[in-house]
Amino acid sequence: MKKYPVPTQIQEFASFFSRSGFSLYLVGGAIRDWALGLHNDDYDFATDATPEEVMTLFKKVIPTGIKHGTVTVIFKRQQYEVTTFRVDGDYADSRHPDSVSFVRSLEQDLARRDFTINALAVNAFTGDLTDLHHGLEDLENGIVRAIGNAGDRLKEDALRIVRACRFAGKLDFSIEADTFEAMKQLAPKLKAVSGERIHEELNRMLLSKRPSRAFELMHSSGVLAVLLPELEACAGVEQGGYHIHDVLTHSLLACDAAARSNFSMNVRYAALFHDMGKPQTRAGNPDEGYTFYKHEFISEKLAAGICERLKFSRADSDRILLLIRNHMFHYTEDWTDAAVRRFIKRVGVEALDDLFALHMADQEAIAGQCDIRTLGSLPQRINAIIAAGNALSIKDLAINGQDLISSGIPAGPHMGTILAALLDEVLDNPEKNTGRILLQLARIKYEALRNG
Ligand code: ATP
Ligand code: MG
Repeated sequence: MKKYPVPTQIQEFASFFSRSGFSLYLVGGAIRDWALGLHNDDYDFATDATPEEVMTLFKKVIPTGIKHGTVTVIFKRQQYEVTTFRVDGDYADSRHPDSVSFVRSLEQDLARRDFTINALAVNAFTGDLTDLHHGLEDLENGIVRAIGNAGDRLKEDALRIVRACRFAGKLDFSIEADTFEAMKQLAPKLKAVSGERIHEELNRMLLSKRPSRAFELMHSSGVLAVLLPELEACAGVEQGGYHIHDVLTHSLLACDAAARSNFSMNVRYAALFHDMGKPQTRAGNPDEGYTFYKHEFISEKLAAGICERLKFSRADSDRILLLIRNHMFHYTEDWTDAAVRRFIKRVGVEALDDLFALHMADQEAIAGQCDIRTLGSLPQRINAIIAAGNALSIKDLAINGQDLISSGIPAGPHMGTILAALLDEVLDNPEKNTGRILLQLARIKYEALRNG
């Protein structure tokens, strides 16, 4: 059997365990990917030592996931995540195991893992491989197969249904028939899994080279309908015109394009969600063509619901929604400078690169290829406007609220309206951004507001 070439530093780390009569194994993705000839140095370790015993072996040990038997050891400035061999108790709420019990045998620990390809272990001292569930054979044949009875394993933790899609998608594997059947049957159980855990798996799907594969498996197994019904609703919605794909396929291709170009996670999510409003807004017919008037705002609303459900951070959710809301811009060379300034103001300088990235991913999904040139002179014109120091937001105005108060305009609801009107004026005429002119304009606006 093949031997894993254990890096010297890990061997040294392992020797601390063996010296005290414990064993240490490398498990999980790093071993699976090595067997496939792929690179992965995200090491997970498993040991027969209890967390307390691990703490006695090293000076610096952080109890990162002590409830589940995981500690992080700092050894020679490296961090190692070490989990005690365990078997899981029931997952009564399908969220977390109610309890875990530590065990001393590698066999028991490997048997509680999800898929055969994830149950390979390598002795971290000798490099010897243990493969009790024919994981190598499944790796060779490109199969994701639950360990033991598929139904039982997926019932224990429904998240494994999503993980099966993720691994099959990432590795371009097929899912073994019994496992796939059980996934279809048990997909509704995913409703009880926490948003955070689903979010983490989706993140990892989106990090793969072609996220669409995992999403297609989620679609065909009924998982997508449970987790992201808003996206599932796009399946089979034809668009006509220059679109050859239905809305779901287009969304997945846009997401692939974003992943291929290494655009950020927010751009990948925005690409996935940007057209979800199309099913609800479609009007017309296949002969005369369809319209999807204002679909971007419905997409935004639906995406907001997903971000909330899956516990996205406020910052990520805000950015994803902004990108979706603004994805329908059609630049032409006859845009005036004022129009370009208004565009920058609406999107915000800091989000422009992401919006262009989304635009390119969207175009690539339609036309098969795309680059920055489809944006024409827009990027250059934006750069010129930013370099010229033109005011693009209220904070760039030559006066602020305090100046207005000093000039006799009272603080209150009028203030915001006046500042917004001043910015409007300056976007059209940048040369008016001087204290004297703006104060004059502010007075006129204030009088008008007062008089009704
Ligand atoms: P990746 O390369 O994406 O990190 P991985 O296989 O290392 O893949 P992790 O989520 O890091 O995946 O989990 C490490 C190992 O722990 C898995 O290989 C698997 O053996 C086990 N595992 C993780 N989550 C589960 C789960 N929900 N049910 C059963 N076993 C799991
Ligand atoms: Mg891992």
